[in-house]
Amino acid sequence: MSHRVTLIPGDGVGPELSEATRRVLEATGVEFDWDVQEAGADVVDRYGTPLPEPVLASIRETRVAIKGPITTPVGSGFRSVNVALRKELDLYACLRPCKWYPGVRSRYEGVDIVIVRENTEDLYAGIEFEHGTPEAKDLIELVAEKTGKRIRDDSGISIKPISVWGGERIVRFAFEHARRNGRRKVTAVHKANIMKFSDGLFLETARRVAKGYPDVAFEDRIVDNLTMQLVQRPEEYDVLVLPNLYGDIVSDLCAGLVGGLGLAPGANIGDEAAVFEATHGSAPKYAGMNKVNPMAMMLSGVLMLRHLGEREAADRLESAIAAVIAEGRSVTYDMKPTRDDPTAVGTSQVADAVIEKLEG
Ligand code: NAD
Repeated sequence: MSHRVTLIPGDGVGPELSEATRRVLEATGVEFDWDVQEAGADVVDRYGTPLPEPVLASIRETRVAIKGPITTPVGSGFRSVNVALRKELDLYACLRPCKWYPGVRSRYEGVDIVIVRENTEDLYAGIEFEHGTPEAKDLIELVAEKTGKRIRDDSGISIKPISVWGGERIVRFAFEHARRNGRRKVTAVHKANIMKFSDGLFLETARRVAKGYPDVAFEDRIVDNLTMQLVQRPEEYDVLVLPNLYGDIVSDLCAGLVGGLGLAPGANIGDEAAVFEATHGSAPKYAGMNKVNPMAMMLSGVLMLRHLGEREAADRLESAIAAVIAEGRSVTYDMKPTRDDPTAVGTSQVADAVIEKLEG
C-alpha cells in the first residue's frame, strides 16, 4: 500500500534537504504518494501569505507531512509558518529524540534521550501586553486590585497559561511513547517551587497521570537542576516531558550533547495529524549550496516511517544513516574534525551514501 504524505520542501536549504530525504525514504522500498505543497518566504509573492490554504487542506487530508525548514522573515508582519501549522492542526506534542551515534564527534557518548515538549501553552501562547499600552495599564491595575501586588508601570507582560487538560494530554503522550518504545523512565521538568500555580499544576498533573503507568518509572526535576545534570550525567535520563519554553531550551541543549543541529530530528504530533521536521531552521546563508547536513531531516523521516507503521523500514533507514556516520567518509562539513575539512561531501552525496547502504 502506498502512503499518501504531504511533502513541504520549505525554503532556504529546505528544498535540497527535502530532496535528499525523499530519495532515501523511497529507497527503503516503502511506497509514497507525495502531495508536494509550497510554503514559505518564496511563495508570498504568489499567494500573499507564506502559508497558503492548500497546505493545511492537504495535511488535513493526508494527516501526515514531512517538511523542510521555513524562514520566519523578521519584521515582515507574517507570523511563523511553523508555529501557525502547530496551532492550526493542534499539533500539541513536539517529539525530539536526541541520540548519539557511534562516530559522531561529541563530548558525550551513549546519550539517548527523548524530549516531549508541550507545543501549545505556556509563555508561547502568544498572549502579550506591550509596555505602556492601555491594555497593559488595565492589566496592571487589575493585578493590583486582585493581588495587592504592584507591577511596575513601564512593564511589558507575557502570560504563562498551563492547564490541567494540556498537561494531562502531553504527559499521557510521553508515557504512551515510553511504553510503545520500551523506554524505562519519564522525567517531568518544571519550576514548581517558584511558579506554584502553573508549573506546580503541571507537576501535580504529571504525578497523577504517572499513577496510570506503573510499568514506567517516573520522577521529576526542577529545570535548572536538570540542565546541570544533563551536562554532567546525560546517561541518567530517558524520556523528558516539559512545558513549552523549557522544552525549547532543553531541546537545543540535548541536540548539542549528541552532535549538533545537523543530527536533531523532530516531529509535531496531534490527534488528527503529524508533521515531521528537523529541529534546525532554514540556514539561509547555505541555501542552494549543496552543503548542509540532511541527516536531521532524514532521521525525521525515520520517525515518520515509525508513525506510519513501517517499523522495519524505519530501522533499516536508521541503520543505514548510522553506518554512514560510523564510516565518517560521506558526511557534511559539520561532522568532520574541522569545519573546513576538504573531504566533506555535500547534501546530495550524503543521500547517495545512505542509499548505497540501504541497497548494499
Ligand atoms: P538555523 O538552524 O537555520 O541555522 C543556524 C546555523 O546552524 C546555521 O547557520 C548552520 O551553521 C547550522 N545548521 C543549521 N542546520 C544545519 C544543517 N542541517 N547542517 C549543518 N549545519 C546546520 O537557525 P537560524 O539561523 O536561527 O534560523 C534561520 C531561519 O530558520 C529563521 O528564519 C528561523 O525563524 C527559521 N527556523 C525555522 C524552523 C522550522 O522551519 N521549523 C526552525 C528554526 C528556525
